[in-house]
Amino acid sequence: MREPMTRKLAPFGVSVFTEFTRLALEHQAINLAQGFPDFDGPDAIKEFACERIRRGHNQYAPSHGVAALRRAIAAKVQRCYGLEVDAEDEVTVYAGATEAIFSSLAGLIEPGDEVILFEPAYDSYAPSTVMAGGTPRYVTLRFPDFAVDEDELRAAFSPRTKAIVLNTPMNPCGKVFSRAELSLIAELCQQFDCFAVTDEVYEHLTFDGASHLPLIALPGMRQRTVMISSTAKTFSMTGWKVGYSVAGPRLTAASRSSHQFVTFCTPPPLQEAMAFAMGLGDEYFSGLRQSYAERRALLLERLAAIGFDVRPPAGTYYVAAGIGPLGFDDDYAFCRGLPALAGVSMIPFSAFYRDRHAGRDVVRVAFCKSGPLLEEACVRLGRLPRRS
Ligand code: PMP
Ligand code: GLN
Repeated sequence: MREPMTRKLAPFGVSVFTEFTRLALEHQAINLAQGFPDFDGPDAIKEFACERIRRGHNQYAPSHGVAALRRAIAAKVQRCYGLEVDAEDEVTVYAGATEAIFSSLAGLIEPGDEVILFEPAYDSYAPSTVMAGGTPRYVTLRFPDFAVDEDELRAAFSPRTKAIVLNTPMNPCGKVFSRAELSLIAELCQQFDCFAVTDEVYEHLTFDGASHLPLIALPGMRQRTVMISSTAKTFSMTGWKVGYSVAGPRLTAASRSSHQFVTFCTPPPLQEAMAFAMGLGDEYFSGLRQSYAERRALLLERLAAIGFDVRPPAGTYYVAAGIGPLGFDDDYAFCRGLPALAGVSMIPFSAFYRDRHAGRDVVRVAFCKSGPLLEEACVRLGRLPRRS
C-alpha cells in the first residue's frame, strides 16, 4: 500500500504536547508540560455561553466572526494599544490562534516563498508554513538571554521572504521583544516588502515592568502585519479555541480567503461569551497579571533552590530551566524519565529547535497552575536524585 502521510508532514511527527501530556496521564504526574491552567476563567463567562446555548444561538456564525465579538476586539485593541480598527473589514475570528496562524499563512504564501521563524519556535509554525507551501528560514535565539543577533536576522531576509512570524511574549522562552528589536524587524519587513504574522497570545502576561508592544503599532507596519491573539490564555479557557486577528483590509482578505475553507466559523455561543469577557474591566486584566506574577515568583524560587538554572521570564507562563547544574545534559531523556521518577512532567526545550542539540540541557516548566499544585510539584522535584 502507498504511504498515506505526505512527505511534508511526516518529519513533524506527533506534537510534543501530545507526547508529554500522555506521559503525564500515564504516570498521574503533575502536568507542568502542556500550557493549560488547572483552573477555569470567570464563572460569568461560562454562564454567558450556557445562556446563549439555551437561547438557541447554535447555528453557524458569520465566517469572519459574530459582530459583538469583532466589535469587542476592536474596542480592546483601541483601549490597550490605541489602534483604530474597523470591526467589519479588519477583525476576524478563528478556531484559536493556531487556526489564525495557519489560515493567515495559507492565505499569504506561494510555493517557494520563505517564512522567517525565530527558534525556539512554537510547534505549529513550521508545519503551518510547510502546509501553506512555504519554506521556513530560521533565526536562532539561545538560552539564557535569547538575544536577537542583528546580522543573523538581516541575513535571513531576501527577495524570497514573504513573511516573518513573530511571537512576543515568546513561548517557550519567555522573551518579550524590545522596541529596538521590533523596529529592526519593521525596517526589514519594509525593506524586503514582506509581511509579519504576529502571535501575541500572551499579550497580558508580562512581568517586572516589561510591556508588550504590538508590531502592528510601529510606523509602516499597520498594513503589513496580521496581529493574532487568542482568548485562551487571557480568559483561562484554552479548550474553547476562540482566537482572532487584526489586520488591514487586504491582509484580512488574504487570511479570510483560506479561513472560510478551513473551519468556516467558530461556535457562536463561545464567541458571544468572549465578547462579554472582553468587556471585563481593567481589574480583571491586572488581577490576571498579578496572580501569574505570584505563581512565577513561587516557581522561580523553588526551582532555583532545587538547583535548576532559572532566569525570570519577562512574559508568558513558562520558565526555561537549565538542567545542567543537576547533572543532566539530555532534555528528552530527562523529561521522558521525570513522570515516573518524580511524578512531574515538563517539555524538553530542544523540541522547539530544528537542531536538537540546541537547548538540549534546558526544559520548559509551565506555571499556569494553582499555587498548591505548583508547591506539590516542587516538593516532588526536590526529591529528585542528583547526578552531580
Ligand atoms: N501560540 C502560542 C505561542 C501558544 O503558546 C499557543 C498555545 N495556547 C497558541 C498559539 C495556541 O492558541 P489557541 O489555543 O488559541 O489556538
Ligand atoms: N500552547 C500550549 C503550550 O505551549 C499547548 C497547545 C497545544 O497543546 N497544542 O503548551
